[in-house]
Order: sequence, then structure tokens, then C-alpha cells
Amino acid sequence: MSRADLPATAECVIIGGGVVGCSLAYHLGRGGVRPLLLERGELGGGSTGRCAGGVRQQFSTAVNVRVSRLSRAMLERFPEEIGVSAELRQIGYLFLASTEDEAAQFARNVEVQHGAGLHEVELLDVAGALALVPELRADDLVAATWCPTDGLAGPNEVTLGYAAAARRSGATVLEDIEVVGIDLEGGEVAAVRTARGRVATPKVVDCAGPHAAQVGRLAGIEVPVTPFRRHIFLTETFSLSRPVPMTVDFHTSFYFHPEGDGLLLGMSDPDEPASFDTSVAWDFLEHLIEHATWRLPALERSRIRTGWAGLYEMSPDHQGIVGEAPGRPGLWLCCGFSGHGFMQAPAIGHLLAERLLGREPEIDLAPYAPERFAHGQGEPEVAVI
Ligand SMILES: Cc1cc2nc3c(=O)[nH]c(=O)nc-3n(C[C@H](O)[C@H](O)[C@H](O)COP(=O)(O)OP(=O)(O)OC[C@H]3O[C@@H](n4cnc5c(N)ncnc54)[C@H](O)[C@@H]3O)c2cc1C
Repeated sequence: MSRADLPATAECVIIGGGVVGCSLAYHLGRGGVRPLLLERGELGGGSTGRCAGGVRQQFSTAVNVRVSRLSRAMLERFPEEIGVSAELRQIGYLFLASTEDEAAQFARNVEVQHGAGLHEVELLDVAGALALVPELRADDLVAATWCPTDGLAGPNEVTLGYAAAARRSGATVLEDIEVVGIDLEGGEVAAVRTARGRVATPKVVDCAGPHAAQVGRLAGIEVPVTPFRRHIFLTETFSLSRPVPMTVDFHTSFYFHPEGDGLLLGMSDPDEPASFDTSVAWDFLEHLIEHATWRLPALERSRIRTGWAGLYEMSPDHQGIVGEAPGRPGLWLCCGFSGHGFMQAPAIGHLLAERLLGREPEIDLAPYAPERFAHGQGEPEVAVI
């Protein structure tokens, strides 16, 4: 798959073959550009391959809701367009609030979501949440939100589907090639360097996920993306009284959803320092289980089968960074998705391709503009898991 010779020139070089880079390669190829995608390992071998597969539209900022609605529509028609299943399962997302402040935030989120066209989302009372997941401990719950068209999709299926479709549309997608340098001429991007040779190009897109800042530094630019480890654990065979949706205990960030014949459990650790460490901290499992069995006591009869860790790619306001890098013509950024990059990748690949093709995307990408940090502006996304 990856043994083709490195071309000497490319109209555009995409660095990183996760779901974001592969979606962009496909959408550029479909638009008539023949991009070169370089992945230093295997396609989908970075954060994408560690992700929980969640696809939700329940965000706090209007732009994230619109982008996620577009992604959902693209995943629904993925088999027709891309030719393979995206493994989309619209089992819904249930968010649980256990303080009045969280409930007030949820109510504001729902208002933003309705305003951005997500009409099927609703604010529930505790009885409504229990009707969906009867086994929840509910003494401390205050409210919930529910969106039945949210759900799960397959990270590998979507990534490899886009990569194959990108190749069919004229893109060159190569694995095992690391970009180790970006050459500039007169301050503008002129080429990328790899161990296998140099590729002259006027455009580079940084789709390196949690490594986006390192790629930015190759071009002398600081990209504010910080890596943080996140864990996932899978139970042995385990079921509840009815099929469960993706359920998020917003206060603790503990979440669970069905996976195979068991449940997938995840939670963030607020004390986790920034790092590229992806080893499993098994002592964190005890902490997670404590919160998990509080919210879902039935889990006391479950057993953990396995676990893994991957990296979130956090930006300062927990929104993606999409656009040309300030002060570095030719370097484009498409990173910083802060733990929601899988679900946003279909739409973002399409929208950024439109920009690169010189067209106006149907969703204004201004809220994701890289220069927003210099202006101290930007509305932070608060629905981060
Ligand atoms: C535990 C966990 C759970 C998650 N759950 C969800 C979820 O439910 N839903 C959701 O939407 N998101 C989730 N995410 C986040 C999601 O995985 C990421 O936002 C998304 O995968 C980012 O995709 P990417 O293509 O930008 O990055 P990656 O998949 O990391 O791809 C970047 C690629 O760039 C390559 N690369 C880096 N440097 C170079 C270089 N110099 N040269 C060549 N290649 C290079 C890397 O090898 C890598 O393959 C989760 C993440 C984790 C860790």
C-alpha cells in the first residue's frame, strides 16, 4: 500500500493520516486537487485508532453543533458516497447533570442546539433519563439532555474508507513516511522533507493530531495544541435491562456505551499532566470504577476485559484550529479538535477542502480561525468529555 515512490512535487501535502487527514485528502481529491498525504506510521494508528467512536451533535457553541450535524448527515450517506459502511449506530447520547449549574448550562446548550437546527434534542427531567437507562443511580441527578440521532461510528471504517476513496479520486496516500522538515522560501512554505526525499509544494496542511505543535515548529510556528492521555476500558460480557445509549455523567466525565457484548467505559482525569504517554495507568481504573459504580451500581457485577490509552489534542478553547497559520503563508492548520475530532472529521475535511479550493464553505470557519488566540477572542466549547 505504501511503497509508491515519493513524488518530487505536490499541489498540497497533508501531514498525518488519521481520520482528519484522510477526510481532507478525499475531499480535496474529489474537488480536483491531487494531494499527497504522508503518514509516519499506519493510517488511523494515532488518536483515531484509540477513540471511543462517539458521534454527537450536542455541543455548547453553534459552530460545533452545525459542523457535527453536517458530519452526521455525511456519515448517514457514507455507504452511498464512499462505498463502505461507516458502522453508524444512532443509539443516542444522554447527558446527565447533577448540579443546578450544570442543568442551567444544559438548558443554554439546548437553546443553542435548537437555534443551530438540531431540533430533536430535548431537555429531560430525571424520570426521563431513568426511562432510557433504568439502572442509573438518580438521587443526585437534576436534569438531562437527550438526542436520539447522536450515536457511534467506526473510526477504522471511516478513516480507511476515506483513504481508499481519496486514492480513487487521485490522491497519493503513503504510510511509513515521516515529515521531518518544512522548507520555507521568503517566509512561505516551499517543500517538505522526509527520509525518503523532498517534495516541493506550495501548501502543507498540519493534520498531525496531538503532534500538531511539533509539525508547526518544523515551519517555525507555535500551534497551541497540547496532548493529554485519556483512558478507555472494556468490560467482559455485560448487559443492562434494555439497550443503552451513550451515557455521559457530565459532572465526573464518566461515560459508557455498548461495545460488542459488553460496555465501553471512559473518563478523563483532571490531574493528568500534558504528555505523549499512552501507557495504561491501571491505578486510574480504580478511580474510574469508583465513579462508574456510583452512577451505575449494576457495574459492580462486571469484570474488566481490557483497557487502552490515547491522546486528546487540546486547544485553549476546546475548539478545532482550522485555517492558514498567521504569518506563515502556505501552512494550513487542521488540528486541536480537543477530543471530538473523529465526529467532526467528515464535515471539517469537506469544509476546509472548500476553502483550499477557493470556494466559500457553507459553514463559516471563522470561529476556528488560528488567529483567534492572538485576539484573545473565541467562545470556549464547554461540552467537553
Ligand atoms: C480515549 C479517546 C477517546 C476518544 N473518543 C472520541 C469520541 O468518542 N469521539 C470523537 O469524535 N473523538 C474522540 N476522541 C478524539 C479523537 O480520537 C481525535 O480527535 C481524532 O482522532 C483526531 O484525529 P486526527 O486525524 O487529527 O489525529 P490522529 O488520529 O492522531 O492522526 C494524526 C496522524 O499524524 C501522524 N503524524 C504526526 N506527526 C507526523 C509527521 N511528522 N509526519 C507524518 N505523520 C505524522 C500520526 O502518526 C497520526 O497518525 C477520543 C480520543 C481518545 C484518546
